Amino acid sequence: MGCSPNVNIDLHIHSTASDGTLTPAEIIARAHRLGLAAIAITDHDTVAGVTQAMAAGIPSGLHYLSGVEISTAAPRRYPCRGSLHLLGYGFNPNDEPLRQALTRLQNARKDRNPRIIAKLNRLGIPLSLNQLEEGAGDAQIGRPHIANWLVAHGVVQSFDEAFARYLGVGQPAYADKYRIGCAAAIALIRNAGGIPVLAHPALIALQGSWPLETLIHELQSCGLMGIEAYYPGHTPEQTRTYLEWAARYDLAATGGTDFHGAIKTEIEMGRGGGDFQVPYRCYAQLAALIEKVAGPPDEHGRHHPGYRV
Ligand code: AMP
Ligand code: ZN
Ligand code: FE
Ligand code: FE
Repeated sequence: MGCSPNVNIDLHIHSTASDGTLTPAEIIARAHRLGLAAIAITDHDTVAGVTQAMAAGIPSGLHYLSGVEISTAAPRRYPCRGSLHLLGYGFNPNDEPLRQALTRLQNARKDRNPRIIAKLNRLGIPLSLNQLEEGAGDAQIGRPHIANWLVAHGVVQSFDEAFARYLGVGQPAYADKYRIGCAAAIALIRNAGGIPVLAHPALIALQGSWPLETLIHELQSCGLMGIEAYYPGHTPEQTRTYLEWAARYDLAATGGTDFHGAIKTEIEMGRGGGDFQVPYRCYAQLAALIEKVAGPPDEHGRHHPGYRV
């Protein structure tokens, strides 16, 4: 199979298992049609989409890594607004401790939705939990689903306005939720045979006085192995900085679009807003790391259910 350095990859994709609008099987089909060389489905706090995609079948021309995006709490010295998003790659999606931790996070999400709805109700917005769950299937319902409802019912004009006026941190319908500590999340991914990667560093809203570079050091001392350098929301300068840090501190540089389907229509899988690209070597480097962690693959090219070379 082709390993041309010029093909695109996308290691940050959301499916209907969290707040994306394409099913895992639709994501695989689209990635294949777009000619992507490697993808990972990285749903918020669930691996249901990862296993659904594998059950549907991955075409032989497509490299596929298990993935997840965990909402974690930053270390104490690094207060930040909202969650620190931690990506995991190439882990065993059947790993029991990881699954149990994800179940706790899913329950925290379920516990938060009624609190957000109660706040909206007090603001005179008549959303009910039933309405939210209608048509959501097994998805991890989150604020994006609520934002969509607010748009569909004319409460706000846009998805972003829903966050700016109601759902974002500090807004009147914001509700906090339990988060796993980042060190614990890093250890869970490592123990499941995977590679922990800090998601979209530029989106981290640090509130303290320590700079981002020292946070990355601290996370590396907890076992972090990579940073997401390529991301549509990063400026070229930010991307350059993260690539420099990755090289300097021996971290893998990864990248992806954060594709959500119709929730973020301006972002296409593998190409972001148009000319965004993640180089193939990011996948190659990650795959080499996974092999180092997991040992050589079996005769089918498999390490465990989450990874195929
Ligand atoms: P949740 O996991 O339910 O807390 O929702 C997190 C998701 O909401 C993120 O992955 C984004 O897609 C979206 N989101 C969070 N904050 C904002 C914001 N300020 N503007 C637009 N979308 C946001
Ligand atoms: Zn999302
Ligand atoms: Fe994220
Ligand atoms: Fe994401």
